[in-house]
Amino acid sequence: MSQIFDNDKEYIASTYNRFPIAITHGKGSFVYDENGKEYIDLTSGIGVTSFGIADSEWVNAVTAQFGRVQHMSNLYYTEPCVKLAQMLTKKSGMKKVFFSNSGAEANECAIKAARKYAFEHKGADCFNIVTLFNSFHGRTITTLAATGQDVFHSQFLPLTEGFKHVPANDADALKAAVDGTVAAIMLECVQGEGGVIALDESYIKAARQIADENGILLIIDEVQTGNGRTGEMYAYQNYKITPDIVSTAKGLGGGLPLGATLLGEKVQDIFSPGDHGSTFGGNPVACAGACSIVSRIDENLLSDVKRKSKLVFDALQGAKGVKSVSGLGLMIGVETVRPAKEVLLDCMQNGVLCLTAKTKLRLLPALNIPEDVLMKAVEVIKQACSKEN
Ligand code: PLP
Repeated sequence: MSQIFDNDKEYIASTYNRFPIAITHGKGSFVYDENGKEYIDLTSGIGVTSFGIADSEWVNAVTAQFGRVQHMSNLYYTEPCVKLAQMLTKKSGMKKVFFSNSGAEANECAIKAARKYAFEHKGADCFNIVTLFNSFHGRTITTLAATGQDVFHSQFLPLTEGFKHVPANDADALKAAVDGTVAAIMLECVQGEGGVIALDESYIKAARQIADENGILLIIDEVQTGNGRTGEMYAYQNYKITPDIVSTAKGLGGGLPLGATLLGEKVQDIFSPGDHGSTFGGNPVACAGACSIVSRIDENLLSDVKRKSKLVFDALQGAKGVKSVSGLGLMIGVETVRPAKEVLLDCMQNGVLCLTAKTKLRLLPALNIPEDVLMKAVEVIKQACSKEN
């Protein structure tokens, strides 16, 4: 066994079940382990490396900024975060941005913004946020409370109060849950960790309507679905709705820690100095890298994401050992006859890295993965799915 495995076990808190390979380097959609074995990467660091590993444009943007100023604190102005905020507001229709370092932090900010808005407009008793069963919003005590999965809760009680969970795709249940104490509805358009489940369009539209009818906010968690992943800049754009608050992270930074909370018209001026903050949020290096990512998420790239998505769906739907295929864009879940973990291990053995989500195989390739590489990997997946135990 590699020394890295032993030292990891000895010195790192065991919160992850790692696979037994140590990645040393890569390029684009290929990564290499310490023995030189090549893998096609369909994980993108769980949807982070939007344009692949060591993507030249991103590396150039990041290294150029490293040489100028790597960090300055939010007490001074720096250009990369302003440039990025301008791009994000233009592409999302939101008005202002708060930068943080992760998806959970982006959601924390979204929740604080919604609570302050409700406090100002409805009073101190209006603070509840309605989220969905099977959702995933992060690992901090508050975002765990937002996460509608008991399995993550039980050993960490008490969680932050003020969250109610309702079943997904049930507009009547949502309507019934929204009483005078509710400040916001929060949801992922495609539940990622919950099993790559795209919500019904009618439900997302109903959520918007219910929020409007009750004068409350709609928060869309785009941590996993955002930044081109679903074939639109943000997944809500597939459903032609406008949220009040959008949280995002993962693929935004392209590999450096970066979260963003996008504030719509109603909440654009909700925060005053001192209300919220983050030492590293808006770090110039992370934002310079993100500018190189976001500037390339254009119509051409998005239609290519949709095209490649269709190729994968067509290849896997009805294939031997595949029960169903779900998701949107290049965020794809595969319900397999064999346990997904076994399929994943087979694929790994045969040079393809995949993820799982609940009982499904999950694919989150780089948005610019070449078609031939993608389809070669899909063949390996098909082989693994079709294997009889
Ligand atoms: N929200 C969603 C939808 C996610 O998928 C995740 C992570 O998987 C998070 C929030 C938490 O993000 P992070 O791990 O960056 O805190």
